[in-house]
Amino acid sequence: METILIIGAGQAGGRAAQALREQGFAGRLILAGSESHRPYERPALSKSALTEVDDSMCFNAWLHGPGFYDDHAIEWRSDPVIELNATDRRARFASGESVQFSKCLLATGGSARPLDMMPDSPHVCVLRTLDDAMHLRERIGNARRVAIIGGGFLGLEFAASARARGLEVTVIEAGTHLLGRALPTDFARTLREKHQAHGVTFLMETSLSQCTAHEDGLTLSLTNHLVINTDFCVVAVGQVPNDALARAAGLAVSNGIDVDASCRTSAADIYAAGDCANFPLANGRRLRLESWQNAQEQAIAAATNMLGGIVEYRPTPWFWTDQYDWNIQMLGLLGSTIDTWIDRASSADKRLLIGLSAGVIRYALALNNGGELRALRGLVQRGVAVDPAVLADPAVKLRQYEKLLQSEHL
Ligand SMILES: Cc1cc2nc3c(=O)[nH]c(=O)nc-3n(C[C@H](O)[C@H](O)[C@H](O)COP(=O)(O)OP(=O)(O)OC[C@H]3O[C@@H](n4cnc5c(N)ncnc54)[C@H](O)[C@@H]3O)c2cc1C
Repeated sequence: METILIIGAGQAGGRAAQALREQGFAGRLILAGSESHRPYERPALSKSALTEVDDSMCFNAWLHGPGFYDDHAIEWRSDPVIELNATDRRARFASGESVQFSKCLLATGGSARPLDMMPDSPHVCVLRTLDDAMHLRERIGNARRVAIIGGGFLGLEFAASARARGLEVTVIEAGTHLLGRALPTDFARTLREKHQAHGVTFLMETSLSQCTAHEDGLTLSLTNHLVINTDFCVVAVGQVPNDALARAAGLAVSNGIDVDASCRTSAADIYAAGDCANFPLANGRRLRLESWQNAQEQAIAAATNMLGGIVEYRPTPWFWTDQYDWNIQMLGLLGSTIDTWIDRASSADKRLLIGLSAGVIRYALALNNGGELRALRGLVQRGVAVDPAVLADPAVKLRQYEKLLQSEHL
């Protein structure tokens, strides 16, 4: 009997297992994870898991119900793979057991990037797993002050959640702007002002030079010569792909595990998907995405290809973040080639920014305006040329404009 081994029981691993069964795979299917929980989605961890007051309601983002794995003969096990032999198609689990596989999917995700200078202290926290979130939920409930190192999406979502729970929040950010690679500079400023209006203190162009742990908190010495005391801190300085297993197995690894457009790694019958996978774009560049959409869609594409299908994974990147009463969604990639900006602002709390490059939409950002953003998806995906004047006209319904352009390109 054919055996498919999925290494990593997160969103991508869990979705791939589901897709394999839905697409008719009838062989042995093993889903090996390293957390004690069955697969879940992480976006809630920095949002409702921290802000929901009622403990019994704070987390319900399971990928499947508890009976799903038994019902679909998926052997979900909390037993990390510690060795992968790509030539013999054999994997060894931490428990000591070994398994022979016909095909394997690496869905090992990523880990919080460590900051080497941090002391080993219970007051130094990260946010990646459900256990991390439950620990932080408890800390938020008992603390008065938190410092967040890193003003990326994760740090800012944590800041919003901690403010919602009444903590004094300081964000320490090395850059001049927040989220320089994901947000246009003007909007990044607007977002910072939103946080400031909610009481968050920002220390921009500032890094940590020393951190000293005490019994009841931390003292942070900063490069701007400030010294601040805090009850705990959250290190949110990015993610590193979990690619050590693949590297040790001799697979090609650059920033994550290299795959082709079919999600195949450099080893026969071994695939990769999700945060750990570095895939090619149509323009030849490579990209590793850390997003819900990527974990979802790449996992399904990999599953299809593992069963002999031919699917090229060419996503139109989409990402969202929730901070306070703002839902911000981004479509496409913010590149340096954008030459025209259109702002379809209807109010300070509802906007749509569209970035064009030579008449083609390359990037769009919606503030509390996900419906309009969705209408642009097909245009971005197909690289259709648009008329900037029409796009800028607030009387134009984007859904209708998209349909019109689609019919013209048929
Ligand atoms: C707090 C937080 C909030 C987020 N919010 C958003 C959001 O608002 N919008 C958005 O688009 N995205 C968001 N994301 C990103 C999104 O959740 C991730 O991109 C997604 O979870 C990636 O899924 P994955 O399955 O590739 O990796 P993971 O979810 O990291 O799962 C990988 C799993 O593999 C396990 N593993 C690793 N090595 C092994 C091994 N050797 N053997 C067995 N198991 C192993 C890991 O422990 C982990 O459980 C957020 C992420 C976090 C952490």
